[in-house]
Amino acid sequence: MKPLIGITASMEVGKKGHQISHANVDAITRAGGIPVILPNILEEDNIEELAQRIDGLYATGGADIDPTLFGEEPHKDLGGVTPTRDFFEITITKKILELGKPFLGVCRGSQVLNVAAGGTLYQDIYAQSDRELLQHNQKAFRYHGSHFVYVEKDSLLYRLTGQEKFKINSYHHQAVKDIAAGFQSSGRASDGIIEAIEKPDHPFVLGVQWHPELMLVNDDELSLKIFKGFIEACQK
Ligand code: MN
Repeated sequence: MKPLIGITASMEVGKKGHQISHANVDAITRAGGIPVILPNILEEDNIEELAQRIDGLYATGGADIDPTLFGEEPHKDLGGVTPTRDFFEITITKKILELGKPFLGVCRGSQVLNVAAGGTLYQDIYAQSDRELLQHNQKAFRYHGSHFVYVEKDSLLYRLTGQEKFKINSYHHQAVKDIAAGFQSSGRASDGIIEAIEKPDHPFVLGVQWHPELMLVNDDELSLKIFKGFIEACQK
């Protein structure tokens, strides 16, 4: 049986509907999983059952995370927030970690992982960093790798890709600030921004700040390796 992969869904700021880029669904399918899109529900017992029934959780991109969830008030450059989605994703991510099931997060999904595990975020990397930063909101087409990520050799990300340095796309103005306890940075941009986090004592918990699902639209091999590694872990 192929593993059943729960995919989190976006919400438009201020609206009640769900939406999801089909690239997320395609990435899970191509890697060998059965995708199922999860609604942002609020009943904790149902969220717990969902976590038990799926074989792995794939947390997708989207709006900013409410900073009060990591102990801060909103900075003036915080973007739109989606509180219902924040609650659902943080709750199910905690359950998935407790259950020891695989987790893959992209962009916002990586930030959700860090906040769910007790870490913090830059609400706006440009306003809250004293360094000169790269362009992290690229103007190029979605599958274009615009800046490099430098990968830690002793990491899941390195084991998956076999590369110490490769190009990634970039669509974020937030990023991981304080890494959650028990987690490590597995890749950074040349300006020091954390581009990937993982949990070394767990078989597969990985968050990447970029969008491998969009690079996969252009048949990017490293992106496929990341998704295939995730699905393989979900099969065990
Ligand atoms: Mn970036």
